[in-house]
Amino acid sequence: MPRPIHAIIHQDALRHNLSVVRKTCPNSQVFAVVKANAYGHGIERAYAGLSAADGFALLDIAEAIRVRALGWTGPILLLEGIFSPQDLYDCANYQLSFSIHSQHQLDWVLQFNAPAQFDVYLKMNSGMNRLGFKPAEYPAIWKQLKALDHVASITHMMHFSDADADRLGKNGIDEQLSCFNQTVADLPGRRSLSNSAAILRHHDQVQSDAIRAGILLYGSSPDFPTHDLAHWDLKPSMSLVSELIAIQDLQMDETVGYGSNFTATEPMRIGIVACGYADGYQRISPTGTPVLVNGIRTQTIGRVSMDMLAVDLTPISDAEIGSEVVLWGQSSSGTVLPIDEVAASSGTVGYELMCGVTQRVNVVIQACSTTNL
Ligand SMILES: *Cc1c(COP(=O)(O)O)cnc(C)c1O
Repeated sequence: MPRPIHAIIHQDALRHNLSVVRKTCPNSQVFAVVKANAYGHGIERAYAGLSAADGFALLDIAEAIRVRALGWTGPILLLEGIFSPQDLYDCANYQLSFSIHSQHQLDWVLQFNAPAQFDVYLKMNSGMNRLGFKPAEYPAIWKQLKALDHVASITHMMHFSDADADRLGKNGIDEQLSCFNQTVADLPGRRSLSNSAAILRHHDQVQSDAIRAGILLYGSSPDFPTHDLAHWDLKPSMSLVSELIAIQDLQMDETVGYGSNFTATEPMRIGIVACGYADGYQRISPTGTPVLVNGIRTQTIGRVSMDMLAVDLTPISDAEIGSEVVLWGQSSSGTVLPIDEVAASSGTVGYELMCGVTQRVNVVIQACSTTNL
């Protein structure tokens, strides 16, 4: 029997979360962001849950080719654009749209002289200062692109830095949005602005013809802890599940694990779980990180080691060897442990936990139930 830890990909949850995006932004083209191998889910495993999207957005041409291999004939957008002039031939071959965020990419497109019809996303740096052209230079660059025969369409694109929270007491998107709106005021073309946080929090304010939905599809709230996933009606699309492989009865003053950094203050029962940092569970997670045993909420205790961690069995009187342990996601009884709570406990975000599940963890697909079609 394989070691009992496994990740479950809930295709129904992906499908449900996508329907939340549709309801929230009924008039937008929805790109499902599947970069980082679909946020750690596996592009091929996530695909059935996301195939009702209007397009897929990702970073690598290799990932784009995997999406094409699944039979997807619709739009695919390379969010960071091309990394070499040769990439343009792949974009032509596989019909990939791409962003243009810097002068060197613009030069490659200007110099390209083979037959092609590119849909490009011209990225503006409206204040985040990672990628994009400054507003002052943006209209002139747009005109240069517009003049090219091999550019079929130009979508105006930008990315919000603070769509998930207020900034200095103000709505986090106001400044970037007004900068963007002023810059494109006289330029025709579609717009692509919103990520998950902007989709959920600012859909009334932001006109985005193409939206780029990432983390919310995977059942993590982009503005946790202000709002949790239940508030946004989202469901976890990944569960990390294992089992108890040992049980210890501790006397008062006995300690647990490396560094003996947990000491029992009274007699207690603890469980040892087949899950450690080599599976992608953060070693930094302190005593008190939430976990479900038999669907009942309890907490980790002591230091996370490479292959194991310990949990407090006080609230779970019927726990035994083989009892189900949910590190995040959904238990078989239906209880949810949001990945955001586990992430917050170790000072990170759900994105990082999802992307960090390691190779040695078996992945199981829970297929879409056809009744939901
Ligand atoms: C990753 C990414 C997104 C999706 O962000 P989420 O917060 O996961 O919704 C959208 N746009 C761009 C440019 C990105 O790189």
